[in-house]
Amino acid sequence: VRQLKKSFELRGGLFRRRRLLQAVAGVSFSIAGGQTFSLVGESGCGKSTTGRLISRMVTPSGGEIWIDGEEISGHKESQLTEIRRKVQMIFQDPYASLNPRMKVSDIISEPLDIHTRLSAKEKRLKVSEMMEVVGLNEQQANRYAHEFSGGQRQRIGIARALIMRPRLIIADEPVSALDVSVQSQILNLLDDLQREFQLTYLFISHDLSVVEHISDQVGVMYLGTMVECGPKDRIFQEPLHPYTQALLSSVPVPDPKLRREKILLQGDLPSPVNPPAGCKFHTRCPACMEVCRTTEPAAVVQSPGHTVACHLYDEGAVRAQA
Ligand code: SF4
Ligand code: MG
Repeated sequence: VRQLKKSFELRGGLFRRRRLLQAVAGVSFSIAGGQTFSLVGESGCGKSTTGRLISRMVTPSGGEIWIDGEEISGHKESQLTEIRRKVQMIFQDPYASLNPRMKVSDIISEPLDIHTRLSAKEKRLKVSEMMEVVGLNEQQANRYAHEFSGGQRQRIGIARALIMRPRLIIADEPVSALDVSVQSQILNLLDDLQREFQLTYLFISHDLSVVEHISDQVGVMYLGTMVECGPKDRIFQEPLHPYTQALLSSVPVPDPKLRREKILLQGDLPSPVNPPAGCKFHTRCPACMEVCRTTEPAAVVQSPGHTVACHLYDEGAVRAQA
């Protein structure tokens, strides 16, 4: 993904003024095949919109999306057939994303109806195969989605996403609505499936404990921008951006010796309709400098694969501090 952008037009309010909400303001990152890249950040930071742009549920306002060597940001619906097969989404709320009046077998085979011309028998076979893969009982195929628990419904959603043998799965808060014990079952299932089917995951979550468990790479977003991005261990052990440091300081750590001092952010999250000039985090940053109010920091590579967008790590700033 290169310099991906999405603005939404808002109308209404005082004087019915036309305003732009910049949900994604130039985000770049890449995911290696077979790996899990997690996008984290507070709600409203643009992580869900980024997922929807990559799956082309939403059309970008700018930038590039490359999937398997094909740039798809400007594709029309008729050109997206192959991408619709290759990229599947899993959503947070299996209650909302599954039709309760449809039989499980019909829910899971729906993508086959859209993308293939398989016979009814071939479809049945594929459905029962997928149900087994995700840990559902074949006898449940004729029951309705509302008869299942939250965890089972998420298994149905995963089977439906997998049935076209996608390359990339975009999972937007896939376990946030589930009990903690069920969460780990679903995360383990996703992990097993990744190995079995060589899947690549874009995982979207505000829950850093979940992200630490599942990711290879992590990207931290704030107000539509990627503030830090890198290998999971580097981000969790040595976060560089003040926002990442604050986010991580609120994650509970069982070992008191490893406990970080909690960093409380000042002020509210600014509106994405009227984001601050310069560094978008400057209104809440404990390390804010003069330059931060006027100049947006560029993403700079700190070590292989680890980039940070913060003036503290501009060459001059680091030298000035030393
Ligand atoms: Fe804080 Fe400045 Fe870095 Fe932004 S650029 S995170 S305001 S130090
Ligand atoms: Mg979201």
